[in-house]
Amino acid sequence: MKKIRQPAEPYRIKAVEPIKLLSRREREERIVRAHYNVFKLDAVDIYIDLLTDSGTGAMSNAQWAALMLGDETYAGAQSFRKFEAVVKDITCKKFVVPCHQGRVAENIAFSTLLKAGQYVPNNTHFDTTRGNCLHKGGNPVDLPSPDASEIEARPFKGNMDTEALEAFIKEEGVDAIPMVIMTITNNSSGGQPVSMANIHETSEICHRYGIPFFFDCARFAENAYFIKRDEAGYGDKSIQEIVHEMFACCDGAMMSAKKDGLANIGGFIAVNDEELYNRFCELLIMIEGFKTYGGLAGRDLEALAVGLQEVMDYDYLDFRVEQVRYFGEIIKQAGMPIVEPTGGHALFIDAGRFLPNIAPEQFPAQGLTIAFYLEGCIRSVEIGTLMFGEEDPETGEITPARQELVRLALPRRVYTNSHLDYIAETAERITAQKASIPGYKVVKQPRFLRHFTCDLAVASNQEVLS
Ligand SMILES: *Cc1c(COP(=O)(O)O)cnc(C)c1O
Repeated sequence: MKKIRQPAEPYRIKAVEPIKLLSRREREERIVRAHYNVFKLDAVDIYIDLLTDSGTGAMSNAQWAALMLGDETYAGAQSFRKFEAVVKDITCKKFVVPCHQGRVAENIAFSTLLKAGQYVPNNTHFDTTRGNCLHKGGNPVDLPSPDASEIEARPFKGNMDTEALEAFIKEEGVDAIPMVIMTITNNSSGGQPVSMANIHETSEICHRYGIPFFFDCARFAENAYFIKRDEAGYGDKSIQEIVHEMFACCDGAMMSAKKDGLANIGGFIAVNDEELYNRFCELLIMIEGFKTYGGLAGRDLEALAVGLQEVMDYDYLDFRVEQVRYFGEIIKQAGMPIVEPTGGHALFIDAGRFLPNIAPEQFPAQGLTIAFYLEGCIRSVEIGTLMFGEEDPETGEITPARQELVRLALPRRVYTNSHLDYIAETAERITAQKASIPGYKVVKQPRFLRHFTCDLAVASNQEVLS
């Protein structure tokens, strides 16, 4: 088998957290008890947890040291001033609203800017962004570039379809569109990046029509890395320079800092418009906290001020993106098709192509997710018909999702390449016996976001055939 080059970690380990591999019998018992829903497993029962990269990263020695400097003053804390200065510098914006995670930034932005019935275009809305937009009576509209649905690898699959955006603005009229959002990187579309050219084009269209242009920038540094690596004219620019050029194009930014903030909690909105900032703060004080802490402790703000700078370190970003690429190569070698090119924060296995014998109604990606747990004590997550399939309430008929994917998200600075090799060995064993992977059926579900809490059972062969 071809030896694939492993990137080497640009850090060494100072504190360790033990993890335990349960026996096969224990894993079987745990997954039955969890009704085949990985969200119901306890963390202690998992060896390698790739459920999400959100808030699961490891902090640096500098961040742990900064925690001790946390100023827990209610108003005007020093920790906020440090956080504010870093965010202003990154985003090129004058005003910073702190909040405890990304979805609060969305809630505040939509509550202030959006009127019921209006449209919010986005390259692809993340699920909480979509949820918050709908909750305020808005209509989230996804306008991903046509490249997003191509199987073959292309750079910048996360782009906005700018032609479709302009056509949409002309059709609905400027008054129906309070803002346009660009998600960088495009999380729901495989963590694929957006090119600088596409950011400029989208910005130009928004500004020509006088529509505020916002970033949803949870993974801004990963996006900047891809621009440096893959876009002509940016190879010699620093990550900081690219970040500045990106943010100079937008009027405001919302961030879930649980990703590229390299911290376990945090978020913000940054804008240039003072009146808008004041309106955001009115709601912030009601639902989160005073405008110099926004639902965060002083020590969280300290950790974020350090993390937001560390994340722009080229060596860190190069290792991170290379680690995802390496992971993709060894999983492909293990016989599983993946979404290509690999993006910034996760690997997506195409379970629809891997298990063509399981119908979407019986959740092939859930079948593979359970196989990873049973075979390797590894937690991944289904992103397919279980998560996104829509059920007709009258007939019970399910409209399948666009793709049946299993997402393996990599927490930042947490797992080594040996952990990834272990996962690839597990994948190889699963491939060797993939004919034995069953389909699943939902036996109990709530009305909304069923994947988090539903109960599942193995579908019998009879049901597979029918
Ligand atoms: C995670 C995420 C959010 C939501 O942020 P939370 O911190 O989980 O509330 C919004 N947008 C994108 C692109 C994200 O990745």
